[in-house]
This record gives sequence, structure tokens and C-alpha cells, in this order.
Amino acid sequence: MPNVTHLECSLCNKHFEARKIHNLCSCGGALLVRYDLATIRKDWDRDTLFAAKPDMWRYWPVLPPNHRNSIISLGEGMTPIIHTKRLGAKLGMDQLYVKDEGLNPTGSFKARGMTTAISMARELGIMKVAVPSAGNAASAAAAYAAAAGIEAHIFMPKDVPQANFIECKALGAHVTLVDGLISDCARIVTERKDQEGWFDLSTLKEPYRIEGKKTMGYEVAEQFDWELPDAIFYPTGGGVGLIGMWKAFEEMEALGWISKKRPKMIAVQAAGCQPIVRAFEKGESRSEFWQGAATIASGLRVPKPLGDVLILDALRESHGTAIAIDDTEIIDGGIELANLEGMFVAPEGAACIGALRKLLANGFLSPSERVVIYNTGAGLKYLESYAEGFPRV
Ligand SMILES: *Cc1c(COP(=O)(O)O)cnc(C)c1O
Ligand SMILES: [Zn+2]
Repeated sequence: MPNVTHLECSLCNKHFEARKIHNLCSCGGALLVRYDLATIRKDWDRDTLFAAKPDMWRYWPVLPPNHRNSIISLGEGMTPIIHTKRLGAKLGMDQLYVKDEGLNPTGSFKARGMTTAISMARELGIMKVAVPSAGNAASAAAAYAAAAGIEAHIFMPKDVPQANFIECKALGAHVTLVDGLISDCARIVTERKDQEGWFDLSTLKEPYRIEGKKTMGYEVAEQFDWELPDAIFYPTGGGVGLIGMWKAFEEMEALGWISKKRPKMIAVQAAGCQPIVRAFEKGESRSEFWQGAATIASGLRVPKPLGDVLILDALRESHGTAIAIDDTEIIDGGIELANLEGMFVAPEGAACIGALRKLLANGFLSPSERVVIYNTGAGLKYLESYAEGFPRV
């Protein structure tokens, strides 16, 4: 919407002009998009949303494209929040919910980030993009780039789930499998982008993916009739979804749509890659690179999130916490949810089940609280991870 006033560095607060191509601030900080919320507040009533299309572009006044015809959409967002009563009953809770992001195009919430990023790329005249990805960001980038007629160059670890690899190839992207982690993929993009003329779509190095992901925060408010839940469990890799939701809450308060009340934000990581949990426990404001990162939850295998400062701030300000779950517990949680609720979720989302159980057991959460788990992806994209438990006999 033409409501963007400027972009602002999340670390040093320097301002950048809207409607120009940007990556990071010179200080290394990620750029956040700022809107004229006072004006939007006058013209946009939350009660008009009932008539809006059931996708995330219903929040168009707080999304970045300048023209509506720049939007490349495949129907992302407005995913259901399922009241998981049987799992809840087992845990002694009657207000446990799962927001199912696995129903998005390409099977993960990454679609939200890529619809805004690719729409902006098209609006700004970018014709080639590059993305280092643990898997799902690549699939989403490939899909939206295909729909936009933009060339996508994708770098993924060579052990990425088969679904992501095949999907990207089928969607016509240029795919390179890298013998390393997402951090190695990112280094290759950085080294080659200038020479190749690629725009770098890396998490948070590109300012608009977070704008799409923040709509998960608008939706949870709208779906709960503008009263946020008591706690949100978010499987945290780069943490962009969490940072985005936190930004959405601030914007909605400025719009007069919600009160000051915030959910406890709970970052769930894998035991084999838990830089945020470690930094949170040590009281640090930044994370340290996690050596030898390994987990089946490929979206959580981010050894050093670029937005660590913002993630840790949101956890602390919200009186939330960070917790790690090992791979066995992750798969057990996924199968439990599938058995009890009919939802077959990604290991990243499944990690939240074990995390919830632990935080109920240690008294951090009470069973009477209203809790929303974000299932960030579809189980169908991770057949290799689930296959071990189900031999074909
Ligand atoms: C990318 C990804 C994550 C991590 O997302 P962030 O918002 O960057 O922390 C979690 N789950 C799945 C399925 C993902 O694809
Ligand atoms: Zn800066």
C-alpha cells in the first residue's frame, strides 16, 4: 500500500527511502518497514475485514507493495487455527490450539514471506533473485518467482528433504546443492551475487519477507476476536516469524485494534542447534554460532540467526522463554499430534508439543492458559524424517 513512509534499521535506527532496492544497513542491522499508522488508523476499520478475501493480502494497508497489480499471490495465509481438544485433554488443557501453516502454498509459512518479497522484487524491477535456504524458503521462492516470471537461483544443503529439491526443480529454479549448512549457502550467495546480478533474498537481508510473515500475528488476533492468546509457541530457526509477529502486535496496538497485552513468546529450537536457547539462558543480547548444527527439523538448523537481537528482545519483553527439544521427542510429538488430532505436521511444528509438555511440567505455563502452537509446515514434506518409525513390513 502507498502507506510505507520509510525503512528503519533495527539496530541503529537509521532511515532509508521507501520504494528503493535495499538489503542490510551498513551497521549490519536488518531493515524494518515503517508505515503511516496514524493515517491508516483513520481509514481502516478492523470490522471491515469480514468482507475481505480470505488470504493474507486482506491486510494490504500494512503490506509493502505500492501498487496492487504488483502482487504475486498463490492464495497464502488465513490458515485455520484448530482447537486441538484431544491433545489438550491429555495435557489437562482446554484451550490448546494449533495454527496450521502447513496449508500454505508450497506447504509452509515461507509462502507468506515470499509473496511479499517477490511482489516487491517485481515492483522494483528485479529480474534475478538468489536464496540460500534450508528447504522451504527455496520452495516458496521458486514458486513465486515462477509465477512472477523472475529467475530464481537456489542454494540448499545437499541433505535437504527430497520434497524441497524436487519441488524447486519442478518449479524451474536453478538449484545448487551445497556440501554444508545454510550458513555456507549464504556465503556463496554473498560471494557471487554482484557478478551474477542476483538480488539476495536471504532471511532479513531482504526487508519484505518479514512483512509477509508478520501477517501470522494479524491473523491470530483477528481469529481470536482481537484478544491475543496467553502464550505462543514458535519453532525458531531464523526467527523471522517471531520477529514479524512481534512487529504486528506493535502495529495493531498503534492502530487501536488490540490492547497492550502480549502473549508470552516461546522460541522452540532443536537440541542439535539451539543458539537462541543458549543466549537466552546466559542473559546475552546476541547469540553465538552453534557449531556442528544437526537436526531433522531442517528449518531449525540455523546456527546463527541474523535477527538474534530482535528475537531475544521479544522473548524477554514478552516474559517468554526459549527451550530445546531433541529429535526423538520431535518425532514422537509429531506422531502424537497426528494420532490425536488428524494433523500431520512438520518436525519444526512437532517440536512445540514436547516444549509445551516441558513448560507445563516445570510450571512455567499453567494448563488453564490459552496456548497457540504454530505448525510452520506440512508433514508431507518430511517423509524421510518420519519414515524411520514406519518400516514397510
Ligand atoms: C523456515 C522454517 C522455520 C523457521 O522459521 P523462522 O521464522 O525463520 O524462525 C520453521 N519451520 C519451518 C517448517 C520452516 O520452513
Ligand atoms: Zn544500522
